[in-house]
Amino acid sequence: MSLSLSLFLTFLLFPFLSFATPLAFYQHPSSPATALFRRQNTSLPTVGSAAWTALYPSESGTPTTIPQSWLDALAAAENRGLIPSISQSTLDATTGVTTYPDGQDPTGTEVCSFTYQCNVTTDIVNPPEGVIALTFDDGPIPGPSDTLYSFLYNNSQHATHFMIGVNILGAPTQFLIAFGNNKDHIGVHTWSHPYLTTLTNDQVVSELGWTVQIIHDSTGGLIPSCYRPPYGDTDNRVRAIAEHVFGLKTVTWNQDSNDWTIGEGTTEEVVEGSLTNWVVNGGGVQGEGLLILEHELMDTTVQAFMGIYPSMKEKWTVKTVPDAFSFTWYQNGNSSTTPAFPLSVASPAPTSTSTPRAPTSTIKSAHTSTVTASASKGSMAQTGSTSRITASHLLGLVALGMTSVTLF
Ligand SMILES: [Zn+2]
Repeated sequence: MSLSLSLFLTFLLFPFLSFATPLAFYQHPSSPATALFRRQNTSLPTVGSAAWTALYPSESGTPTTIPQSWLDALAAAENRGLIPSISQSTLDATTGVTTYPDGQDPTGTEVCSFTYQCNVTTDIVNPPEGVIALTFDDGPIPGPSDTLYSFLYNNSQHATHFMIGVNILGAPTQFLIAFGNNKDHIGVHTWSHPYLTTLTNDQVVSELGWTVQIIHDSTGGLIPSCYRPPYGDTDNRVRAIAEHVFGLKTVTWNQDSNDWTIGEGTTEEVVEGSLTNWVVNGGGVQGEGLLILEHELMDTTVQAFMGIYPSMKEKWTVKTVPDAFSFTWYQNGNSSTTPAFPLSVASPAPTSTSTPRAPTSTIKSAHTSTVTASASKGSMAQTGSTSRITASHLLGLVALGMTSVTLF
């Protein structure tokens, strides 16, 4: 009996096993993925155990420990000219907007910052007409995530969860419910939720890499297919690092529910009004589906989703991001129920002396309204003083009943 058949029969007979025990995983030793994520083929501690926790950075903020293999992959990509020389941005803590020095235009094709609503053609942003790509950012968080996962499970609805690394570390039980019990799709939302364009190349590698690592280690070796930048703050430099070091697609959104501002300048009614406009009244991008920015951050954000969900199901086909855009859930796996298969990630070795292609940068006309961008970011100004709260503080804040978090 083959290994895959054995696994299939095992999970057929004992589906609950997938909750407690991630699938065995395997990467071929010749795969670059082996060099990037060396823990495969070794015996990993149980997800949530003290030994498992000890595998990951404990410091707050962007981890300063970066595996050499990741830095080598970054250097290889840089040497091939795949990472654009775009300056780090500077965050204005008052406005929550990132700006660039030396006259670099964030809306231009060279930088193309999504903080300014600029998407490139490879960004995942507009699902097909009639389709909602269902996403939730910032989890897992005990409480709101539990409510959301129960609701999704009871409605047989899969979703994409863009998870924060330190939140997985702090809420392994909820992680295993989302992945193992609900068998939902897991994406990367960085390790500590920074504005990625403000970071150095090494720091971007650290933020993405550690999140890929903990998801990889806790899912039987699955390597995420995509990331969503915190605050939507990405540009062509960050996109290139994500793609050429870790093979990650960039996912943004075409509607922002602003659900994270409930209680901080926005009411639940306003958010539900926006959702109703898009979902019920067709107020989204004409001819496109909906990819709405929603969160599993607080009870109120989850309630806003649960309120609109019946209308979603009535009028739309509701899918995970990879299902909506027709790519595999993981770089080395077709779903959260099938074992990982070997693959190659990281920038491949040069095969010719041809000049690498420059990133394709096409600004979507629907997202070039800087007025809208400014208005959207303006709402962050009210909470700008707390915008640097790191995700490692989030669980504590939520546990204390504090809602002055500005993550999105
Ligand atoms: Zn976020």
